[in-house]
Amino acid sequence: MRHIAYIALGANLQQPQQQLDLALQRLDAHADLTLLACSPYYRSAPIGPQDQDDFINAVCRVATDLTPVQLLAQLQHIEHEQGRQRLRHWGPRSLDLDLLFYDDLVQQDAQLTLPHPRIAERAFVLYPLHDLLGDTALPDGRSWTGLWAGIAGQRIERLHTSD
Ligand code: ADP
Ligand code: MG
Repeated sequence: MRHIAYIALGANLQQPQQQLDLALQRLDAHADLTLLACSPYYRSAPIGPQDQDDFINAVCRVATDLTPVQLLAQLQHIEHEQGRQRLRHWGPRSLDLDLLFYDDLVQQDAQLTLPHPRIAERAFVLYPLHDLLGDTALPDGRSWTGLWAGIAGQRIERLHTSD
């Protein structure tokens, strides 16, 4: 497996922790993907509309032979398998899978932007990503210095495995 990618997982419907468990199993089951590591799960406040449940979030690291577009298609396939319907922007969803990084690739087109453009705005991405990377720079070279200030005040808590 030649490439390293980071994927953000989020869910706030239909037993969200199980949605994440299942998505991780499905990723690892793919012949061209290997799950290398997953962060602890977090509970976070929803972004956008507040009349919805908290989200469960995590970030995982995979090794893959898929191209970025093939990997995105696979993520969308898994979302679809787990019943995701696009009802409203930033509304509740049974599963959201976002591609954060693919090696150190930088690209921007209609279908896929890399790195994911909203990483630095979201505690529910930065906390679990930091669990995987420690203080090592992000795959695109950004340092952690300054990133924490940008998410100050966002509500997030790490789940204990017994939750
Ligand atoms: P969001 O995750 O922002 O709530 P969606 O999951 O509905 O929204 O994604 C909307 C679109 O974002 C997808 O159709 C996909 O083509 C596009 N997209 C662009 N870059 C990425 C990325 N890095 N990871 C995931 N989706 C992306
Ligand atoms: Mg998404």
